[in-house]
Amino acid sequence: MKILVVEDEIALAEALSEILKRNKYIVDAVHDGEDGLEYALTDIYDCILLDIMLPKMNGLDVLRILRKKKISTPVLLLTAKSDIEDKINGLDSGADDFLTKPFVTGELLARVRALTRRKGEVITDEFTFGDVALNKSTFSLSREGQFVKLSLKEYQIMEMLIANPKQLISKERFIEKIWGYESDVEYNNIEVYISFLRKKLKVIGSNVTIKTARGIGYCLENGE
Ligand code: CA
Repeated sequence: MKILVVEDEIALAEALSEILKRNKYIVDAVHDGEDGLEYALTDIYDCILLDIMLPKMNGLDVLRILRKKKISTPVLLLTAKSDIEDKINGLDSGADDFLTKPFVTGELLARVRALTRRKGEVITDEFTFGDVALNKSTFSLSREGQFVKLSLKEYQIMEMLIANPKQLISKERFIEKIWGYESDVEYNNIEVYISFLRKKLKVIGSNVTIKTARGIGYCLENGE
């Protein structure tokens, strides 16, 4: 899960990033409306935390442009006070929820969880595909009582594959989502992680394989 934080108070942006990272979200933080818009338009985030009062472009304008451009990423607006006017304008601009500053960590996490929950999704620590289960809290892959630990990057790649079972995911998309779109990670790093994952799937005797569509990307296949 990847989250964009747009907040000009640096200390608050850092605190938010820290809390989210500790809860296994991947976070990018920017500090003005123009950067916020540019990052949000990449459409790689699962949720955006957006301050209203921002330099260069205010949060409500950022939100209006995003919605106009059909970016439907859930947006949690950060409001300085429980100002009813802000909330009405925010809803009119396409916000999904509000968080009034100052807030407590538990409330922040609960709202982010609610916004990133896919419709109909059951809340569980596990994703499953075919005969394998991917556990979010232990970072492990299992099949019928056989377990194998994954590294953080392996876990994140496997999570993207399992969460999008019918889609081909390109190396570029993995890099954008996991390393951030300004990273200099190379395509062959992805190939290496995919080969580790293939080995681990074999270790637990799974029928699931990672299929390569040359030049396009990867997807999971249930070999049964
Ligand atoms: Ca602000």
